[in-house]
Amino acid sequence: MAMDIDVVVVGAGILGLAIARELSRSGYSALILEGAGAIGTGTSSRNSEVIHAGLYYPQASLKARFCVEGRKLLYAFCESHGVPFQRCGKLIVATNPAEVGAIEDLQRRGKANGCEDLRLLSRHETLVLEPELECVAALHSPSTGIIDSHSYMLALLGDAEDAGTSLALNTPLLSATVIHGGFRINAGGAEPMELTCRMLINAAGLHASHVAASIEGLSPDAFPRTGYAKGNYFLLNGRAPFQHLIYPAPQTHGLGVHLTLDLGGQARFGPDVEWVDRIDYRVDPARMAGFEDAVRRYWPAMPKDALVPGYSGIRPKISGPSDPAADFRIDGPQEHGIQGLVNLFGIESPGLTSSLALARYVAGLL
Ligand SMILES: Cc1cc2nc3c(=O)[nH]c(=O)nc-3n(C[C@H](O)[C@H](O)[C@H](O)COP(=O)(O)OP(=O)(O)OC[C@H]3O[C@@H](n4cnc5c(N)ncnc54)[C@H](O)[C@@H]3O)c2cc1C
Repeated sequence: MAMDIDVVVVGAGILGLAIARELSRSGYSALILEGAGAIGTGTSSRNSEVIHAGLYYPQASLKARFCVEGRKLLYAFCESHGVPFQRCGKLIVATNPAEVGAIEDLQRRGKANGCEDLRLLSRHETLVLEPELECVAALHSPSTGIIDSHSYMLALLGDAEDAGTSLALNTPLLSATVIHGGFRINAGGAEPMELTCRMLINAAGLHASHVAASIEGLSPDAFPRTGYAKGNYFLLNGRAPFQHLIYPAPQTHGLGVHLTLDLGGQARFGPDVEWVDRIDYRVDPARMAGFEDAVRRYWPAMPKDALVPGYSGIRPKISGPSDPAADFRIDGPQEHGIQGLVNLFGIESPGLTSSLALARYVAGLL
C-alpha cells in the first residue's frame, strides 16, 4: 500500500526535532506533529540547559552511553551551527568528610563511563578556582558546559526542514491505527487531518504514555505509566560569585539543588524534586527556605533574601518515588512487535545532552 509519508514524529521538543532531522537527512520524508503553537514549549524549554559530561549514570545504561556520545556530538554541532554554548566546567562539592566517599565513587563511575578528564580537588585547590565555596573537597568536570537550548532547537529544525521535514503546529496526534505496512494517523487542531505513514515515532515527552495508549494495535502491557516529578528553580537576585556550575553530592531522583548559570550570567538554583499528579508549572514561594538551607551548605555567604521564585520543569518518570531512578526507555519493534514504531519513555535528564546520540539510535532501530 502506498503511504502519504515515510515518518510521522509526534512532538517538537528537542528529541522529536533531533529524530526528524536524523531521519530526513537519511532520505526519509518526515512530518512533525506538535500539539502546541510553537516548538519546544514542554520540558525542552524548562530545564537547566547543561551539557552533562555523563558521570552520574550506571555503567552500560542508555543514559551513560547516550550522554557521553551525545555530549561530544552536541559540542561539535554547536560549533558547526553557531549555537551559543560555553564549556564552563562544574564542581561537585563534598561539604563534609562523609560526602567525600560519594564524590570519589562518582569519579570512578564517571571514568568508567568515559569521562576521562575528572579530577578530585582538595579544599585548597577548589578555593583557588572558587573562593566563596565552602567544601572539604570537590570533583572537577571540565567538559560540562551550558547551551542556549532554544537556539539549539531552531538549528535542529533548520537542518530538518532543509532536508525536507515539515512541521505542523497546533496539530496534536489524536490516535493512530496499525495498518498493513504502517499506520493511519488521525490528527486534530485547527485543520484536522488523516494520513498514512510507514513509521511512527512517539516523542511526546510527558504525554508519551498517553500517546502510546492512543495507538490502536499496541498492547496496553507494552508501555509504562509516566509519573511526574517537578523540579522548581529559584533565581539569584544579583550576580553569582562563581564561574563554574556548582553541584552538591548527588541524590536519588535528582542531582541535588545546584547552581547553574545561563549564557547571560544569570544564576539559578534547582531543580528540587516534588512529585506531583498533574502538570502545573507554578513555583511555590514556600519552598524558598529549603533552597536557602541547601545552597548555604556550599555557599554560606549567600546574601539574605537573595532568591526569587523562578520557573519549573517536570520530569517524565517511569519509576516511582521509592524506586531507583529508571533508565531511558526506547521501545522499538523488538520490544512491542510492531514494525516502524518507536516509543520514547522517561526521557528526563540528560535528554538534552543525549539528543543527537539518541536520534541516531532511534534511526538505527528503523
Ligand atoms: C527540571 C529539568 C531539568 C533538566 N535539565 C537538563 C539538563 O540540564 N541537561 C540535559 O541534558 N537534560 C536536562 N533535562 C532533560 C531534558 O530537558 C529533556 O530530556 C528533554 O527536553 C526532553 O525532550 P522531549 O522532546 O522528549 O520532550 P518535550 O520537550 O516535553 O517535548 C514533547 C513535545 O510533545 C508535544 N506533544 C505531547 N503530546 C502530543 C500529541 N498528542 N500530539 C502532538 N504533540 C504532542 C508537547 O507539546 C511537547 O512539545 C532536564 C529536565 C527537567 C525536567
